[in-house]
Amino acid sequence: MNDDLSHLLNHLGEERELGYHAVVPPVVQSGNFAYTTVAAMRAIVQQEMEKPLYTRGANPTVAILRKKIAALEHAEDALIFSSGSAAIAAAVMSFVKAGDHIVCVNKPYSWTKKLLVELLARFNVDHTFVMGIDPEDYRRATRPNTTLFITESPNSLTFELQDLRAVGAIARERGIITLCDNSFNSPLFQNPIDLGIDLVAHSATKYLNGHSDVVAGVLAGSKAHMRQVMSKEFMTLGAVPSPHDAWLLMRGLRTLELRMHRSADSAALVANHLEAHPRIKRVYWPGLASHPQHALARQQMKRVAGLMTIELDAPDEAGVERFCDGLQRFLIAVSWGGYESLQWPVCALKGPSGYYTDLPFTLVRLYIGLEDPQLLIADLDQALARI
Ligand SMILES: *Cc1c(COP(=O)(O)O)cnc(C)c1O
Repeated sequence: MNDDLSHLLNHLGEERELGYHAVVPPVVQSGNFAYTTVAAMRAIVQQEMEKPLYTRGANPTVAILRKKIAALEHAEDALIFSSGSAAIAAAVMSFVKAGDHIVCVNKPYSWTKKLLVELLARFNVDHTFVMGIDPEDYRRATRPNTTLFITESPNSLTFELQDLRAVGAIARERGIITLCDNSFNSPLFQNPIDLGIDLVAHSATKYLNGHSDVVAGVLAGSKAHMRQVMSKEFMTLGAVPSPHDAWLLMRGLRTLELRMHRSADSAALVANHLEAHPRIKRVYWPGLASHPQHALARQQMKRVAGLMTIELDAPDEAGVERFCDGLQRFLIAVSWGGYESLQWPVCALKGPSGYYTDLPFTLVRLYIGLEDPQLLIADLDQALARI
């Protein structure tokens, strides 16, 4: 165990003398805070985003979590939101105004895409999606009015990487702000700020909480950037977490290191096994030596976590469904990052008018959870035999 990390995950920000010396920090489940004199209240009002006045702005339980997230992402400060989408939306909206332009990686998380395509378009904020495998894609898409680059590395479903150091350098030449959705890595396996990215967002619903029982988001960056987000979008849109959810997240963080390494170890076993299987055409997992961007993965990520996508050698949708329905240990569900292994087949994304995506129906995203990896492999083998 890394000693600094263990300290951070278990102790940082936990001033026990303020909480009855309890080993676990208390949940300050109070929306409001009272002071005994006008002078004391006046002093608090001046600092409503740092001191407890009203829980939308500051809450002591949430404040501990902010310190831990900032330290984990090597950032000066962090903010906690009621969902990952709220964190991303607040970050994006804080750094654009009408008439601006955003360059974003192709195929970002679905609601990030909707934020650009549907919501911000209404306010005259334009965007360009780029593949991003070549960092120069970002430069080529830049216009005089570009103010923000959005990265998500690895990218959803097919896990293409962006070279974060190179994209950050291109942005800095022109004073463009950079945001990375780092949910797929957790702060343990990738720290975008160290690579020159300004803002880092996570769906804390996933690895950070790790128990499939909270929806939350986080954003980390410089003090100045966090102040800007907090004083505008954070306070006005008000997508703040409940103190209890912040407390659950801190409980999840205590096992983050154990969980991430277990999932990554098991994912490596599963990916290598499946890559050699005759019913599998391809495994999309940047930890495999055969992944076209494996060298970049080794350079900018410490490890590759437990999400991967497999391409089945199946003749038709019925074959894919026989595989998916035949899996006993992979729940059919969205999201990921908890104890339980999951499967998310592209063929579930079919509506009355066809697929919601142009990806092949033979793709199935797997989340490798914390169960015994040999049992997961045996389960995959028996389901593959049903195709
Ligand atoms: C889940 C997810 C989000 C959205 O987070 P919520 O907590 O569900 O709002 C954003 N980005 C990525 C990569 C995700 O997987």
